[in-house]
Amino acid sequence: MSRPADWSRREFLAYGSILGWLPFFRPKRISLAGATFRIIRNGASKRRYLLIHGNEETARQVLTRHMEAHEGIAYVIQNHTRTVAVDTGQLDPNRMFSRVGAEASLRRLNRDWSPERVQSALHELDRRREKLVRALLPPPSGLLIALHNNSAGYSVTNEEAISDEKSIREPDNPHAFFLCTDPNDFRLLSTSAYNVVLQQHAPKEDDGSLSRLAAARGMRYVNLEVGLGHTERQKEMLDWMEWTLR
Ligand SMILES: [Zn+2]
Repeated sequence: MSRPADWSRREFLAYGSILGWLPFFRPKRISLAGATFRIIRNGASKRRYLLIHGNEETARQVLTRHMEAHEGIAYVIQNHTRTVAVDTGQLDPNRMFSRVGAEASLRRLNRDWSPERVQSALHELDRRREKLVRALLPPPSGLLIALHNNSAGYSVTNEEAISDEKSIREPDNPHAFFLCTDPNDFRLLSTSAYNVVLQQHAPKEDDGSLSRLAAARGMRYVNLEVGLGHTERQKEMLDWMEWTLR
């Protein structure tokens, strides 16, 4: 076996592309700013899963168990706080998917930062964002599923006004809902007894969340929200969605 230095460029590139298919060489983690995601792989499927807020421990537990019995790739944030570290400050990781969203989050969470410091953090995010986005994007016709937990400050009522369509079957339980970007997924999800909203068109205001990016890129995306601590409810809705969406 020759050393890499002796290989032709073509051989090296060909071998490099094969390495990506071998489990041994597949990365176990991927990062953007202070957000590091553990990658859980199970079989071959076009499903992708994401836990982005480290303090949403119910969603973490439900997703980690789910991956033992379902095929796909899950990205699970490693830290256990809602925000992640950037430079000397903090950033909401679900605001880092656009420059404008990240800028608003950085300014809000780091009031003592100079404009230069904000710009330098944004530059770093701009340089590395696409690598994470490419990893999270499912293959064509695939589906990305993000799990979240909420509390008193947020529910489906916050999303109704900016949604294209809604099906509110559980008005007394607004904390449990699906948010999706694909009209066909909405049609199927709204046959359930759960709350569902469709946000197919990216709203004018880009908050830097993954749901806005998914809408802007025409990606099939489903956000599954339940109140923190409602483990059985989140598991039930995730299982129902797995059976219903193809
Ligand atoms: Zn969240």
